[in-house]
Amino acid sequence: MARVVLANLSKTFPGPKGEGIRAVQQSNLTVEDGAFLVIVGPSGCGKSTTLRLIAGLETPTAGTISINGTVMNQVDPKDRDVAMVFQHGALYPHLNVFDNMALGLVLRKFPRDEIDRRVKTAAETLGLTSCLSRRPQALSGGQRQRVAVGRAIVRRPKVFLFDEPLSNLDAPLRAQMRVEILKLHRELGATMIYVTHDQVEAMTMADRLVVMREGVIQQVAPPHVVYEQPANVWTARFLGSPPMNLFPGRLLRQAGALTFHAGSGTEANGLCFGQVVGEMAARLAVGAAREVLLGVRPEDIHLGPPGEDTVLAAVLAVERLGAECHVHLRAGGHEFTARAAGRTEAKAKQRIPVSFDLSKAHFFDPTTEKSLWQAGVDLESVPPPGVH
Ligand code: ATP
Repeated sequence: MARVVLANLSKTFPGPKGEGIRAVQQSNLTVEDGAFLVIVGPSGCGKSTTLRLIAGLETPTAGTISINGTVMNQVDPKDRDVAMVFQHGALYPHLNVFDNMALGLVLRKFPRDEIDRRVKTAAETLGLTSCLSRRPQALSGGQRQRVAVGRAIVRRPKVFLFDEPLSNLDAPLRAQMRVEILKLHRELGATMIYVTHDQVEAMTMADRLVVMREGVIQQVAPPHVVYEQPANVWTARFLGSPPMNLFPGRLLRQAGALTFHAGSGTEANGLCFGQVVGEMAARLAVGAAREVLLGVRPEDIHLGPPGEDTVLAAVLAVERLGAECHVHLRAGGHEFTARAAGRTEAKAKQRIPVSFDLSKAHFFDPTTEKSLWQAGVDLESVPPPGVH
Protein backbone atom coordinates (compact mmCIF):
# COMPACT_ATOMS: atom_id res chain seq x y z
CA MET A 1 0.00 0.00 0.00
CA ALA A 2 1.60 3.28 -0.99
CA ARG A 3 0.59 6.88 -1.51
CA VAL A 4 3.31 9.01 -3.05
CA VAL A 5 3.31 12.77 -2.56
CA LEU A 6 5.65 15.24 -4.24
CA ALA A 7 5.62 18.68 -2.63
CA ASN A 8 7.31 21.63 -4.34
CA LEU A 9 9.84 19.19 -5.75
CA SER A 10 12.62 20.76 -7.83
CA LYS A 11 15.83 19.52 -9.36
CA THR A 12 18.43 21.74 -10.97
CA PHE A 13 21.51 20.17 -12.55
CA PRO A 14 24.71 22.15 -13.02
CA GLY A 15 25.17 22.93 -16.73
CA PRO A 16 28.53 22.86 -18.57
CA LYS A 17 28.94 26.67 -18.37
CA GLY A 18 27.96 26.92 -14.72
CA GLU A 19 24.33 27.62 -15.56
CA GLY A 20 21.51 25.69 -13.89
CA ILE A 21 19.47 23.15 -15.89
CA ARG A 22 16.05 23.22 -14.28
CA ALA A 23 14.92 19.65 -14.94
CA VAL A 24 11.99 19.65 -12.49
CA GLN A 25 10.37 22.85 -11.26
CA GLN A 26 8.16 22.92 -8.19
CA SER A 27 6.22 19.75 -8.89
CA ASN A 28 3.22 19.12 -6.67
CA LEU A 29 1.65 15.74 -7.21
CA THR A 30 -0.26 13.13 -5.23
CA VAL A 31 -0.27 9.56 -6.48
CA GLU A 32 -2.97 7.65 -4.65
CA ASP A 33 -2.46 4.13 -3.39
CA GLY A 34 -2.96 1.61 -6.21
CA ALA A 35 -3.05 4.28 -8.93
CA PHE A 36 -1.59 3.90 -12.41
CA LEU A 37 -0.19 7.34 -13.04
CA VAL A 38 1.47 8.18 -16.35
CA ILE A 39 3.85 11.10 -16.80
CA VAL A 40 3.97 12.16 -20.44
CA GLY A 41 5.88 14.90 -22.21
CA PRO A 42 8.50 15.47 -24.91
CA SER A 43 12.13 14.47 -24.59
CA GLY A 44 13.96 16.45 -21.91
CA CYS A 45 10.86 17.67 -20.07
CA GLY A 46 11.92 16.13 -16.75
CA LYS A 47 9.99 12.84 -16.71
CA SER A 48 12.93 10.56 -15.91
CA THR A 49 14.35 13.00 -13.39
CA THR A 50 11.01 12.95 -11.55
CA LEU A 51 11.13 9.13 -11.38
CA ARG A 52 14.78 9.12 -10.35
CA LEU A 53 13.99 11.58 -7.56
CA ILE A 54 11.23 9.27 -6.28
CA ALA A 55 13.58 6.27 -6.50
CA GLY A 56 16.31 8.17 -4.64
CA LEU A 57 18.75 8.07 -7.56
CA GLU A 58 18.83 11.89 -7.60
CA THR A 59 18.79 14.31 -4.67
CA PRO A 60 16.18 17.09 -4.83
CA THR A 61 17.37 20.69 -5.00
CA ALA A 62 14.21 21.64 -3.08
CA GLY A 63 10.96 20.07 -1.93
CA THR A 64 10.04 16.66 -0.59
CA ILE A 65 9.08 13.17 -1.67
CA SER A 66 6.84 11.31 0.77
CA ILE A 67 5.64 7.73 0.70
CA ASN A 68 2.77 6.94 3.04
CA GLY A 69 3.37 10.16 4.92
CA THR A 70 7.09 9.59 5.54
CA VAL A 71 9.51 12.02 3.93
CA MET A 72 11.97 9.98 1.87
CA ASN A 73 14.57 12.65 1.01
CA GLN A 74 17.15 11.21 3.40
CA VAL A 75 16.16 7.55 2.96
CA ASP A 76 18.55 5.33 1.02
CA PRO A 77 17.16 4.13 -2.37
CA LYS A 78 17.28 0.49 -1.27
CA ASP A 79 15.16 1.28 1.77
CA ARG A 80 12.42 3.18 -0.09
CA ASP A 81 10.59 0.02 -1.14
CA VAL A 82 10.35 1.15 -4.75
CA ALA A 83 11.47 -0.78 -7.84
CA MET A 84 12.34 0.86 -11.13
CA VAL A 85 12.14 -0.71 -14.58
CA PHE A 86 14.38 1.11 -17.04
CA GLN A 87 14.10 1.70 -20.77
CA HIS A 88 17.27 -0.31 -21.31
CA GLY A 89 16.48 -2.95 -18.70
CA ALA A 90 19.92 -4.53 -19.18
CA LEU A 91 20.02 -8.15 -18.05
CA TYR A 92 23.17 -9.97 -16.99
CA PRO A 93 24.11 -11.96 -20.12
CA HIS A 94 25.89 -14.72 -18.18
CA LEU A 95 22.90 -15.39 -15.91
CA ASN A 96 19.79 -17.28 -16.96
CA VAL A 97 16.29 -15.82 -16.60
CA PHE A 98 15.76 -17.34 -13.15
CA ASP A 99 19.03 -15.94 -11.80
CA ASN A 100 18.46 -12.52 -13.42
CA MET A 101 15.10 -12.30 -11.68
CA ALA A 102 16.43 -13.70 -8.40
CA LEU A 103 19.53 -11.50 -8.12
CA GLY A 104 17.94 -8.63 -6.17
CA LEU A 105 16.57 -11.08 -3.60
CA VAL A 106 19.87 -12.98 -3.35
CA LEU A 107 21.70 -9.71 -2.62
CA ARG A 108 19.10 -8.95 0.05
CA LYS A 109 19.80 -12.40 1.52
CA PHE A 110 16.29 -13.82 1.13
CA PRO A 111 15.95 -17.56 2.00
CA ARG A 112 16.43 -19.84 -1.03
CA ASP A 113 12.91 -21.35 -0.93
CA GLU A 114 11.30 -17.88 -0.74
CA ILE A 115 13.36 -16.75 -3.74
CA ASP A 116 12.32 -19.88 -5.62
CA ARG A 117 8.65 -19.31 -4.85
CA ARG A 118 8.68 -15.60 -5.79
CA VAL A 119 10.58 -16.08 -9.04
CA LYS A 120 8.36 -18.96 -10.16
CA THR A 121 5.18 -17.04 -9.33
CA ALA A 122 6.41 -13.95 -11.21
CA ALA A 123 7.50 -16.10 -14.17
CA GLU A 124 4.03 -17.60 -14.32
CA THR A 125 2.37 -14.16 -14.21
CA LEU A 126 4.63 -12.96 -17.02
CA GLY A 127 4.47 -16.11 -19.17
CA LEU A 128 8.16 -16.82 -18.67
CA THR A 129 7.99 -20.24 -16.99
CA SER A 130 9.34 -22.08 -20.03
CA CYS A 131 12.24 -19.59 -20.38
CA LEU A 132 13.62 -19.74 -16.82
CA SER A 133 16.78 -21.65 -17.73
CA ARG A 134 17.52 -19.61 -20.88
CA ARG A 135 20.07 -16.84 -21.07
CA PRO A 136 19.00 -13.36 -22.28
CA GLN A 137 20.50 -13.79 -25.77
CA ALA A 138 18.06 -16.65 -26.35
CA LEU A 139 15.04 -14.43 -25.66
CA SER A 140 12.97 -12.08 -27.84
CA GLY A 141 12.95 -8.34 -27.08
CA GLY A 142 9.54 -8.64 -25.45
CA GLN A 143 10.62 -11.58 -23.28
CA ARG A 144 13.73 -9.67 -22.15
CA GLN A 145 11.62 -6.69 -21.16
CA ARG A 146 9.30 -9.02 -19.26
CA VAL A 147 12.29 -10.38 -17.34
CA ALA A 148 13.18 -6.78 -16.44
CA VAL A 149 9.61 -6.33 -15.14
CA GLY A 150 9.89 -9.68 -13.33
CA ARG A 151 13.01 -8.48 -11.51
CA ALA A 152 10.90 -5.65 -10.10
CA ILE A 153 7.88 -7.85 -9.29
CA VAL A 154 9.80 -10.40 -7.19
CA ARG A 155 10.79 -7.63 -4.81
CA ARG A 156 7.10 -6.87 -4.15
CA PRO A 157 7.79 -3.18 -3.79
CA LYS A 158 5.22 -0.66 -2.63
CA VAL A 159 5.80 1.45 -5.72
CA PHE A 160 6.75 0.48 -9.27
CA LEU A 161 8.49 3.09 -11.39
CA PHE A 162 8.58 2.44 -15.14
CA ASP A 163 10.90 4.60 -17.24
CA GLU A 164 9.82 4.17 -20.89
CA PRO A 165 9.98 0.39 -20.52
CA LEU A 166 8.55 -0.36 -23.96
CA SER A 167 10.34 2.12 -26.19
CA ASN A 168 12.80 -0.46 -27.53
CA LEU A 169 10.07 -2.81 -28.72
CA ASP A 170 8.33 -2.92 -32.09
CA ALA A 171 4.73 -1.77 -32.42
CA PRO A 172 2.90 -5.12 -32.00
CA LEU A 173 5.04 -6.06 -28.98
CA ARG A 174 4.45 -2.66 -27.42
CA ALA A 175 0.72 -3.13 -27.78
CA GLN A 176 0.94 -6.58 -26.19
CA MET A 177 3.17 -5.42 -23.32
CA ARG A 178 0.86 -2.46 -22.62
CA VAL A 179 -1.95 -4.90 -21.92
CA GLU A 180 0.33 -7.15 -19.86
CA ILE A 181 1.52 -4.31 -17.64
CA LEU A 182 -2.07 -3.21 -17.06
CA LYS A 183 -3.07 -6.80 -16.18
CA LEU A 184 -0.17 -6.91 -13.77
CA HIS A 185 -1.30 -3.65 -12.21
CA ARG A 186 -4.76 -5.12 -11.63
CA GLU A 187 -3.36 -8.34 -10.17
CA LEU A 188 -0.80 -6.73 -7.86
CA GLY A 189 -2.84 -3.66 -6.91
CA ALA A 190 0.46 -1.76 -6.46
CA THR A 191 1.02 1.94 -7.04
CA MET A 192 2.62 2.39 -10.46
CA ILE A 193 4.19 5.50 -11.97
CA TYR A 194 4.93 5.15 -15.66
CA VAL A 195 6.91 7.55 -17.82
CA THR A 196 6.54 7.78 -21.58
CA HIS A 197 6.72 10.26 -24.43
CA ASP A 198 4.26 8.14 -26.42
CA GLN A 199 0.78 9.62 -26.32
CA VAL A 200 -0.92 6.33 -27.21
CA GLU A 201 0.67 4.67 -24.17
CA ALA A 202 -0.21 7.66 -22.05
CA MET A 203 -3.85 7.80 -23.14
CA THR A 204 -4.50 4.07 -23.01
CA MET A 205 -2.70 3.14 -19.80
CA ALA A 206 -3.17 6.00 -17.36
CA ASP A 207 -5.91 6.34 -14.85
CA ARG A 208 -4.41 9.75 -14.23
CA LEU A 209 -2.16 11.61 -16.59
CA VAL A 210 0.52 14.17 -15.78
CA VAL A 211 1.55 16.33 -18.73
CA MET A 212 5.02 17.88 -18.34
CA ARG A 213 6.80 20.54 -20.34
CA GLU A 214 10.25 21.99 -19.62
CA GLY A 215 10.22 20.70 -16.04
CA VAL A 216 6.79 22.13 -15.25
CA ILE A 217 3.60 20.10 -14.74
CA GLN A 218 0.98 21.46 -17.13
CA GLN A 219 -2.05 19.41 -16.10
CA VAL A 220 -2.97 16.42 -13.93
CA ALA A 221 -6.26 14.69 -14.72
CA PRO A 222 -7.71 11.48 -16.18
CA PRO A 223 -6.64 11.13 -19.84
CA HIS A 224 -10.07 11.86 -21.32
CA VAL A 225 -10.26 15.07 -19.30
CA VAL A 226 -6.84 16.21 -20.50
CA TYR A 227 -7.95 15.49 -24.07
CA GLU A 228 -11.34 17.12 -23.77
CA GLN A 229 -10.46 20.00 -21.47
CA PRO A 230 -6.76 20.76 -21.97
CA ALA A 231 -5.50 23.40 -19.57
CA ASN A 232 -3.58 25.34 -22.19
CA VAL A 233 -2.70 25.53 -25.86
CA TRP A 234 0.50 23.53 -25.47
CA THR A 235 -1.25 20.57 -23.78
CA ALA A 236 -4.07 20.77 -26.32
CA ARG A 237 -1.63 20.47 -29.22
CA PHE A 238 0.60 17.85 -27.54
CA LEU A 239 -2.19 15.29 -27.17
CA GLY A 240 -4.04 14.32 -30.33
CA SER A 241 -2.95 13.40 -33.81
CA PRO A 242 -3.36 15.31 -36.06
CA PRO A 243 -3.04 18.06 -33.45
CA MET A 244 -5.83 20.45 -32.52
CA ASN A 245 -6.41 23.23 -35.08
CA LEU A 246 -6.00 26.76 -33.77
CA PHE A 247 -7.71 29.86 -35.09
CA PRO A 248 -6.98 33.33 -33.75
CA GLY A 249 -10.11 35.43 -33.81
CA ARG A 250 -12.80 36.98 -31.69
CA LEU A 251 -16.03 36.16 -30.00
CA LEU A 252 -18.77 38.68 -30.74
CA ARG A 253 -22.01 39.02 -28.81
CA GLN A 254 -24.75 40.49 -30.97
CA ALA A 255 -28.45 40.39 -30.15
CA GLY A 256 -27.78 37.76 -27.47
CA ALA A 257 -25.98 35.39 -29.86
CA LEU A 258 -22.32 34.55 -29.31
CA THR A 259 -20.45 33.90 -32.55
CA PHE A 260 -16.81 33.17 -33.37
CA HIS A 261 -15.08 35.03 -36.19
CA ALA A 262 -11.65 33.86 -37.33
CA GLY A 263 -9.22 36.59 -38.28
CA SER A 264 -6.80 39.08 -36.85
CA GLY A 265 -7.81 41.61 -34.23
CA THR A 266 -8.25 44.34 -36.82
CA GLU A 267 -10.88 42.43 -38.79
CA ALA A 268 -14.07 42.79 -36.84
CA ASN A 269 -15.95 40.33 -38.98
CA GLY A 270 -13.64 37.58 -40.17
CA LEU A 271 -14.83 34.19 -41.33
CA CYS A 272 -17.79 33.27 -39.10
CA PHE A 273 -17.62 29.74 -37.70
CA GLY A 274 -21.14 29.89 -36.29
CA GLN A 275 -22.77 30.31 -32.95
CA VAL A 276 -21.45 29.18 -29.58
CA VAL A 277 -24.38 27.67 -27.71
CA GLY A 278 -25.22 25.77 -24.54
CA GLU A 279 -22.94 25.40 -21.55
CA MET A 280 -19.90 26.71 -23.42
CA ALA A 281 -21.65 30.00 -24.22
CA ALA A 282 -22.72 30.35 -20.59
CA ARG A 283 -19.21 29.73 -19.31
CA LEU A 284 -17.48 32.21 -21.58
CA ALA A 285 -17.66 35.53 -19.83
CA VAL A 286 -17.70 37.72 -22.91
CA GLY A 287 -19.08 41.21 -23.15
CA ALA A 288 -19.53 42.66 -26.63
CA ALA A 289 -16.30 41.20 -27.98
CA ARG A 290 -13.24 39.32 -26.87
CA GLU A 291 -10.11 38.18 -28.63
CA VAL A 292 -9.60 34.43 -28.26
CA LEU A 293 -7.73 31.52 -29.72
CA LEU A 294 -10.23 28.92 -30.87
CA GLY A 295 -9.13 25.27 -30.78
CA VAL A 296 -11.02 22.67 -32.78
CA ARG A 297 -9.98 19.03 -32.89
CA PRO A 298 -9.88 17.48 -36.40
CA GLU A 299 -12.79 15.14 -35.49
CA ASP A 300 -14.96 18.16 -34.66
CA ILE A 301 -14.71 19.61 -38.16
CA HIS A 302 -17.34 18.04 -40.39
CA LEU A 303 -17.38 17.94 -44.18
CA GLY A 304 -20.73 19.09 -45.73
CA PRO A 305 -23.60 19.28 -46.21
CA PRO A 306 -23.96 22.99 -46.98
CA GLY A 307 -25.96 24.90 -44.39
CA GLU A 308 -26.29 28.10 -42.40
CA ASP A 309 -23.18 27.48 -40.32
CA THR A 310 -20.90 26.01 -42.97
CA VAL A 311 -17.98 27.78 -44.60
CA LEU A 312 -16.60 26.97 -48.02
CA ALA A 313 -13.09 25.47 -47.83
CA ALA A 314 -10.55 24.46 -50.46
CA VAL A 315 -9.27 20.89 -50.15
CA LEU A 316 -5.46 21.06 -50.19
CA ALA A 317 -4.75 17.35 -49.76
CA VAL A 318 -6.37 14.14 -48.55
CA GLU A 319 -4.32 11.60 -46.60
CA ARG A 320 -6.05 8.23 -46.76
CA LEU A 321 -5.18 5.98 -43.81
CA GLY A 322 -7.75 3.25 -44.44
CA ALA A 323 -10.20 3.59 -41.55
CA GLU A 324 -10.02 7.39 -41.67
CA CYS A 325 -8.80 10.28 -43.80
CA HIS A 326 -7.03 13.47 -42.81
CA VAL A 327 -8.37 16.22 -45.02
CA HIS A 328 -6.19 19.33 -45.21
CA LEU A 329 -8.26 22.42 -45.89
CA ARG A 330 -8.01 26.19 -46.31
CA ALA A 331 -10.67 28.84 -45.76
CA GLY A 332 -10.32 32.57 -45.29
CA GLY A 333 -6.53 32.31 -45.19
CA HIS A 334 -6.59 29.67 -42.40
CA GLU A 335 -5.24 26.17 -42.94
CA PHE A 336 -6.65 23.34 -40.87
CA THR A 337 -7.15 19.57 -40.82
CA ALA A 338 -10.36 17.56 -40.52
CA ARG A 339 -10.63 13.89 -39.67
CA ALA A 340 -13.12 12.20 -41.96
CA ALA A 341 -14.36 8.67 -42.62
CA GLY A 342 -12.05 6.43 -44.64
CA ARG A 343 -14.40 6.46 -47.61
CA THR A 344 -14.79 10.23 -47.83
CA GLU A 345 -15.21 11.47 -51.37
CA ALA A 346 -13.31 14.74 -50.76
CA LYS A 347 -10.54 15.29 -53.30
CA ALA A 348 -7.73 17.82 -53.60
CA LYS A 349 -8.64 21.03 -55.47
CA GLN A 350 -12.37 20.72 -54.63
CA ARG A 351 -14.20 23.39 -52.67
CA ILE A 352 -16.43 21.83 -50.04
CA PRO A 353 -18.65 23.10 -47.24
CA VAL A 354 -17.32 22.41 -43.73
CA SER A 355 -18.78 23.06 -40.30
CA PHE A 356 -17.08 23.49 -36.93
CA ASP A 357 -18.71 21.85 -33.92
CA LEU A 358 -18.38 24.75 -31.52
CA SER A 359 -20.08 22.79 -28.72
CA LYS A 360 -16.84 20.76 -28.54
CA ALA A 361 -14.51 23.68 -29.23
CA HIS A 362 -11.82 25.03 -26.93
CA PHE A 363 -11.28 28.70 -26.21
CA PHE A 364 -7.94 30.01 -25.00
CA ASP A 365 -6.74 33.40 -23.84
CA PRO A 366 -4.45 34.58 -26.69
CA THR A 367 -1.95 36.14 -24.26
CA THR A 368 -1.63 33.51 -21.52
CA GLU A 369 -2.68 30.63 -23.83
CA LYS A 370 -4.64 29.22 -20.88
CA SER A 371 -8.04 27.64 -21.41
CA LEU A 372 -10.95 29.94 -20.73
CA TRP A 373 -13.01 26.91 -19.73
CA GLN A 374 -10.73 26.18 -16.79
CA ALA A 375 -11.82 29.00 -14.56
CA GLY A 376 -13.78 27.58 -11.66
CA VAL A 377 -14.35 24.18 -13.27
CA ASP A 378 -13.77 21.01 -11.31
CA LEU A 379 -12.16 19.04 -14.11
CA GLU A 380 -12.15 15.82 -12.09
CA SER A 381 -15.93 15.81 -12.19
CA VAL A 382 -16.16 15.93 -15.98
CA PRO A 383 -17.55 12.49 -16.90
CA PRO A 384 -15.84 10.33 -19.53
CA PRO A 385 -17.44 10.28 -23.00
CA GLY A 386 -20.78 8.48 -23.01
CA VAL A 387 -21.16 8.64 -19.21
CA HIS A 388 -23.78 11.07 -17.95
P1 ATP B 1 13.72 11.70 -22.28
O1 ATP B 1 12.32 11.36 -22.68
O2 ATP B 1 14.56 12.14 -23.43
O3 ATP B 1 14.36 10.65 -21.42
P2 ATP B 1 12.99 13.27 -19.94
O4 ATP B 1 11.71 13.97 -20.06
O5 ATP B 1 13.00 12.00 -19.17
O6 ATP B 1 13.62 13.04 -21.37
P3 ATP B 1 15.09 14.12 -18.18
O7 ATP B 1 15.99 12.97 -18.50
O8 ATP B 1 14.41 14.10 -16.87
O9 ATP B 1 14.00 14.32 -19.33
O10 ATP B 1 15.94 15.46 -18.32
C1 ATP B 1 15.40 16.75 -18.02
C2 ATP B 1 16.46 17.79 -18.29
O11 ATP B 1 17.54 17.63 -17.37
C3 ATP B 1 17.10 17.70 -19.67
O12 ATP B 1 17.38 18.99 -20.11
C4 ATP B 1 18.37 16.91 -19.41
O13 ATP B 1 19.35 17.23 -20.38
C5 ATP B 1 18.76 17.42 -18.04
N1 ATP B 1 19.51 16.40 -17.27
C6 ATP B 1 19.08 15.18 -16.90
N2 ATP B 1 20.03 14.53 -16.18
C7 ATP B 1 21.07 15.38 -16.09
C8 ATP B 1 22.37 15.32 -15.46
N3 ATP B 1 22.75 14.24 -14.76
N4 ATP B 1 23.18 16.39 -15.61
C9 ATP B 1 22.80 17.49 -16.28
N5 ATP B 1 21.60 17.62 -16.88
C10 ATP B 1 20.75 16.58 -16.79
